[in-house]
Amino acid sequence: MSAAPSLPDDAEANIGAPVPPLSARGRAQQRLTGPMLTDLTLARGEVDRSSYLRANDTWLAEAWADPATRVVVAEHGRAVCEISDERAALLFVAPAEAPEGVRFLLGVDEGGTAYFGVAGPLLDPRPDSGLRAAHLREAGPLLSDLDAGLMTHAVALANWHETFTHCPRCGTATEPFASGHARRCPADSSEHFPRVDPAMIVLVTDSDDRALLARNAMWPERRVSVLAGFVEAGESAEQAVAREVQEETGITVDAVTYLGSQPWPMPQSLMLGFRAAATNTEIMVDAEEIAEAHWYSRDGLRAAIASGELRLPPPVSIAHRLIQSWYGSELPGSW
Ligand SMILES: [Zn+2]
Repeated sequence: MSAAPSLPDDAEANIGAPVPPLSARGRAQQRLTGPMLTDLTLARGEVDRSSYLRANDTWLAEAWADPATRVVVAEHGRAVCEISDERAALLFVAPAEAPEGVRFLLGVDEGGTAYFGVAGPLLDPRPDSGLRAAHLREAGPLLSDLDAGLMTHAVALANWHETFTHCPRCGTATEPFASGHARRCPADSSEHFPRVDPAMIVLVTDSDDRALLARNAMWPERRVSVLAGFVEAGESAEQAVAREVQEETGITVDAVTYLGSQPWPMPQSLMLGFRAAATNTEIMVDAEEIAEAHWYSRDGLRAAIASGELRLPPPVSIAHRLIQSWYGSELPGSW
């Protein structure tokens, strides 16, 4: 038996179905978003992931031998970019220029160009080249749709290969397969897949349509955001929303509504965005994780930002977009 992740019945029924054509799937599929939050910064992408090519060794060898193939090198959440305050562009290298490291197929664009990632040491650009290593958090908002999708995918896989190097059953060093999208133990043949930790993040409003914003005890003074937390084992995302909000602020919620998701490979999360309605308003912070939490009207939030009392999370985050979806327009202030 394969140790592939289990799939719902309706998904399993599609295994073995004819493979759609290479082109034209990527953009439409990877622009899929939730019912309200569209074009989230790290949920963009323009290449078809071409997962059906990951086991095609002949195609993979030919693509790697093609000097037109583009390679992104990622290490510790970073990649080399040409970057300014306004925009960034990934540095792609030809396969022959790529460093040693775990190699993974990122996909193929509509023109047929193949994109690979390598988890390896970043190239060290000359100081006057305009190039430098940038973290996904910094570069993500400045990259094109194409580059943002490729960097997010490459950083997520590189983070996994950097960390999950040994078999959790027997401790033997595992080896990549499926073009770097899985690892296998040579001692017991167990298969291991990239770890993604689901986390929920929620904008809670009360009956006066005020938003609940909190400051985590580890954050700098003045920074506030919506509530977030990891989904626990054996728990649904909606259950996690209700539990975290209650634990952190004493507020109970209902009408938990999913709004969209964004990969957050820092190092390995998937952020699931929600709104929820509070059924009480008296806040009791847990005093451990949350330093303070308050209800804000739109006017109150605007005034608190204008006075310098508050700072909101940056636009790269789904938190920013959740607050914006409630606020109704571009958020004031700087990040
Ligand atoms: Zn093993």
